[in-house]
Amino acid sequence: MTNSPKLSLETIAQLSQGELRCEDSALLISEISTDSRGAFARHSLFIALTGEHFDGHEFVENAYKKGAAAAMVSRSADIDSLAIPGMALIIVDDTLGALQRLAAGWRALFDIPVVGITGSNGKTVVKDMLANMLAQEHTVYRSPGSYNSQVGVAISLLGIRPEHEIAIIEAGISRVGEMARLEKMVRPTLGIITNIGLAHAAGLGDLETTAAEKVKLFEGLGDGVLIFPEDCPPLDPLELPGRQLSFSSDTEASDAAYSIVASRDSGHGFDFEAQLEERGVHPFQLHVLGRHNLSNAMAAIAAADQLGLDVESMRRGLAAFELSPLRLEMHTTQSGITFINDAYNSDPTSARAALSVLKDYAGSARSVAILGDMLDLGSRAKAAHAQLGRIVNDTGVDLLICVGALAEVVGESAVAAGLPPEAVVFIDSIDGLDSVLDDQLVAGDVVLFKASRNIGLERAAERLLESVAPARLRVDLDAIRHNFHALRRQIGAETGVIAVVKSFAYGNDSTRVSQTLAREGVSALAVAYADEGIPLRRRGLTLPILVTNALASEADKIVKYRLTPFVYSSSVVEALAEQIRRRRERAEVHGIGVHLEVDTGMNRVGLKPNEILEFAKLVQRTEGVSIAGIMTHLAAADDPCEDTFTLQQISHFEQAIETLKQANIDPGIRHVANTAGAWRFPQARFDAVRVGLGTYGIAPSKAVGAESPGLRNALEFSTRIIHIKELNPGESVGYNRTWVADSARKIATIAVGYNDGFPRFMSNGGEVLIGGTRCPVVGTVCMDVSMVDITDVDDAKVGDEVIIFGAQGGRSISVDEIASRGKTISYELLCNISPRVRRIFVRQ
Ligand SMILES: *Cc1c(COP(=O)(O)O)cnc(C)c1O
Repeated sequence: MTNSPKLSLETIAQLSQGELRCEDSALLISEISTDSRGAFARHSLFIALTGEHFDGHEFVENAYKKGAAAAMVSRSADIDSLAIPGMALIIVDDTLGALQRLAAGWRALFDIPVVGITGSNGKTVVKDMLANMLAQEHTVYRSPGSYNSQVGVAISLLGIRPEHEIAIIEAGISRVGEMARLEKMVRPTLGIITNIGLAHAAGLGDLETTAAEKVKLFEGLGDGVLIFPEDCPPLDPLELPGRQLSFSSDTEASDAAYSIVASRDSGHGFDFEAQLEERGVHPFQLHVLGRHNLSNAMAAIAAADQLGLDVESMRRGLAAFELSPLRLEMHTTQSGITFINDAYNSDPTSARAALSVLKDYAGSARSVAILGDMLDLGSRAKAAHAQLGRIVNDTGVDLLICVGALAEVVGESAVAAGLPPEAVVFIDSIDGLDSVLDDQLVAGDVVLFKASRNIGLERAAERLLESVAPARLRVDLDAIRHNFHALRRQIGAETGVIAVVKSFAYGNDSTRVSQTLAREGVSALAVAYADEGIPLRRRGLTLPILVTNALASEADKIVKYRLTPFVYSSSVVEALAEQIRRRRERAEVHGIGVHLEVDTGMNRVGLKPNEILEFAKLVQRTEGVSIAGIMTHLAAADDPCEDTFTLQQISHFEQAIETLKQANIDPGIRHVANTAGAWRFPQARFDAVRVGLGTYGIAPSKAVGAESPGLRNALEFSTRIIHIKELNPGESVGYNRTWVADSARKIATIAVGYNDGFPRFMSNGGEVLIGGTRCPVVGTVCMDVSMVDITDVDDAKVGDEVIIFGAQGGRSISVDEIASRGKTISYELLCNISPRVRRIFVRQ
C-alpha cells in the first residue's frame, strides 16, 4: 500500500486475513461498529462479535437495515443464511481475533507518533487535555469516549486516517494478560501512566500486579519516552521501559522532570506554574475543579512538551479544556430541562466524572443528580458509595436524589459531609421517581442520571424523555468536531476560527455546540444579539464572544458579560463607555475591546470606507473602549458569478486597514470570511474566519460544496409514525381535501407539522424516509402532524422512525433538497426547527 492508506473492503479483508464476498472491493468503509443498536453511518462495517450472552450474527440483517454496507462474520456461523444481496461479507475464523489483527495492521500503516495512555484513573481526562493542546498545532486523532477495552482499542485504532498527524489511544484492562494483546495493536511511540490505584481491583489482584500489567503496554517503546507519576510506590519495584520522565502535582520539592512550583485555587479551577523538563517555569490555567486534575494536567503537559509543542499552544489548549462525560447523551426537553443520561454503567471513577460534567454544564443553573446503585463492587461496595457521597458534597450539587439501597449510603454520607439534609431525597425504587421529578424539577434545571444499567434508571430516563413529542433533532458532536478540523486543515493553523453560534447555533442549542467547539480550539464565538451571549458566559465559556448586532440599549449586558461588540455608530460606543464608567466605580470592569465593522458592499450595516478613520479615532479617544479587531461581511462569496464583486469587497477591506495603519492605528484581529469565503477565497482568510453553517457539514451553495469535500453531516431531523390506515380509491386526506387516493393506499400519520419546522411547502409531494424508502407527503402539512403514503414500505408499524432529513437504510435526504423544493436556503430551515423538537446530542 502507498503512503495514503485507504480503509477499503479489500484492505480490511487483507489485514484481517478474511475472505471477501462482495461486488465492489474498492468500497471505502467510513466507520466500523460492533454495536447494532445505534444507527450506522453510510458505508459502515458491522462486526458480528460473540460473547457469553450474545451473538452478533443474529443482528447482521438488522445492521443492514440500519444502513451498514458490510459485515464481518465468523466462518462457523451459517453463512448462507446470513448473506443479504447488496451487503458485502468478510468471512473470518474468529471475529474478535480478526478485528484485532485488522486494527494492528491498520495502525502499522501510519508512521506518526502514537501516544498510549493507561492507568487506573484519569485516562480519558489526560487524553482529552493532551488532544486539546495538540489540536492547537496539529490534526489529532483520539480514541472516542472511553473506548479502551479489547474491542474498544481496536475500534479506536481503526479511526486513524491519513490526515491525522498524531494519535492518542487509551488502553484499559480488567484482567491479567490483556495488556499484551493491546500492546500488539497500539504499539505506542510515547507512553503515559496516569496513576496506579484500585479502579478495577477484581481481575487484577494487588497493586503491584496491576502496575506490572499496565506497564506491559510499553514493552515495545524502545527509546521512546515514558511519562509516569513520580510518587507511585507500586511502580518502584518495576524496571520501566523507554526513556523515563516523571511528573508530579506536588509543590513540595519534587524531583520530577515535570512538576508544579506554585498553584492557586481560582474558584473555578487552578492557576499554576509548572516546571517543564528543559524549558523552565511557565504559568498555566485550568478551568476544571478537583485537585486531582492538576496531576492529570501535568501528565498531559509532559507529553505535549515531549512532542515538541509550543508552550503558548499548551497554555491555550489547557485553558480551553472542559470535562466531557465518558458517555455523553444530553437531551433538552420542551419544558427547558436538560437531561444528561449516563444511566448505563456506574463506578466510582465514572460517577465522579459525570458529576463534574453536571456541575460544569449547569454553571449557575440548578444541578440535580439522580444516583442509583453502583453494582459489581463486591466487598468495597459500602465504602465506595460512602466516598461517592463525599464527592457529591464536594461537587456541590443542588439536589441529590438517591434511588435504591446502596444509593442511600451515598445520600447519608453526603449529608454527613455537609450537604444540607433538605437537598437530599431518598426513594426505594425507580417506581417512585416519576412523581418526585414532577414535584421537584423546574425549567432550566440540569439533571444527571447515573447508575449501573441493571437497576433500570435508564428506563426511567427514557420514559421521561418519551413523554414529550417524538420529533427530535439529533446533533452529532463528533461530526461537528470533524468538520472543524477539516476546515482547520484547509485554512492552516495560523488562521483562527470564530464559531458563529447565533440563532441558537442555527437551531441546534448554542451552549452544547459552543462547548464542543471551544474544546477543539476555536478562537472565539459569535452571536447576533447580546442576549444570546449571556447563557454562554453563564455556562462558563471564557472565550471572547463577539456580538454582531450590538445595540446601545444593551450596552449594560455587553459590559457586564464581557462581550465583544461589532461597532459602527458613535451612540453605541458612548453607551458602552457610560456602562464602563459605572462599573469601574464598583471596580468590576476596566474596559472592553470592540471590532470595527466595515461595509464593503453588503449595504446592511457598517462604516463606509470614508468614515473609518474618523470613527476609529473616536473609539481611541473614548476611555474604557479599545479597538480589538476589524471585520466586514461578504455578500456573495458562495456564488462564482459574483467573484469579481467579492474580490472588490476584499480589496475595499484591505484599503480600510491601510488607512488605519497610515494613521498609526492598530486594527487588531482582521476577519472577513463566512463559510463560503473560508473555503473559496484564501485571500479572505486574514487572521480568522467566521464559520456558521459549515460546522454542520452543510454547504451554503453547490460551489462551496464542491470545494469542501469530506464534511460530515451533523444533523438528523426525525419523528415517528403515530397512526396507520388503509384508504379506498376516491377517499381524500387532510384539510381542504387537496389529495385524493386514485387506488387503494396505505397512509401513515407522522408526528411533525409546520409548528415543528416541517415546512408547509412539503405538502403533496415533499418526501420523508420510512424503512429506507422515500414516502411522499399526501395532503397539506398540518400544524402538528402530516400524512405520508407508505404503500411501498413493507411492514411499517406505529412507532417506526421517520427521517425528515438525514440518512436511513442507505438512503438520505439533505437539508438542501428540502430547501430547493421550498425555494429557500438551508439556513432558514434550520433556524425554523421549533423549540418543541427535542435536541439530542451524541458523542462517542
Ligand atoms: C451569520 C454570519 C456569519 C456566518 O455565516 P455562514 O455562512 O453560516 O458561515 C459570519 N459573519 C456574520 C457577520 C454573520 O452574520
